[in-house]
Amino acid sequence: MQHPETLTAELLAIVSVAKSARVQCQNPGCGHGVYAAVHVVDEGGRILVLGSKCYRTRYGHAAQERPSLAGSSWGSGQPLSEEDRRLLQSNSTKLIAQFRQRLERETEIAHQRQQRRQRHRPALDAVKPMERPASGFAAAPPPPRKPWPWQHASNTSVAVLRGPDGQCWVRVQHRDGSQKLAPWPVHEGWDEALPPSCGVADLELGAYAVPDIVAALRWLQAHGFSAPQVSRWPEVLKILPEIS
Ligand SMILES: [Zn+2]
Repeated sequence: MQHPETLTAELLAIVSVAKSARVQCQNPGCGHGVYAAVHVVDEGGRILVLGSKCYRTRYGHAAQERPSLAGSSWGSGQPLSEEDRRLLQSNSTKLIAQFRQRLERETEIAHQRQQRRQRHRPALDAVKPMERPASGFAAAPPPPRKPWPWQHASNTSVAVLRGPDGQCWVRVQHRDGSQKLAPWPVHEGWDEALPPSCGVADLELGAYAVPDIVAALRWLQAHGFSAPQVSRWPEVLKILPEIS
């Protein structure tokens, strides 16, 4: 066997299946049944299915965090549909081709949406910066004293996850006890930024209703966001002054 450091591979997707439908890890000498975080890898044109542990030991420092074919609702740990699960076992190359197509479609839709937004922007861009109202069109709104009026009265601790581009998501507890993920700063399209597996955008609250906060935080971290930094509003602004 080659030394792990010399193997190059592309992590295509991470998928999960029911334990009863587990698949065999294809790392030579392993053969364990894997189901929770099945790593699908392209190693020199050969599709390999590996458990997460074997993925890390096999590729060492070359291991990737983010799968290249992960979309908004697949490929970063989400369960496979029954049809996809069969493909994983019978024809993983075809499954990967489908992931690629889905990602292309999704990228195209995102691109079209972006273009639609651009078309609506010239009116704003035509206004010279100096002539814009003090609040500004492009800048994020200044942080109000209490950004989330629906926040739990006594549990005011929040957790901030910073994105690679400065966009943050803040875990806030609603006064009804449920967990929400609020965008910070609030940006256009925030309600389409997270996949259904993370939750549902509540336009009235300006935040996502998140049924499984642990899974949602995991998803964000798998997509380049920082580990949650727990603090209290407004101390959050002192930790991360640049987000105001
Ligand atoms: Zn293994």
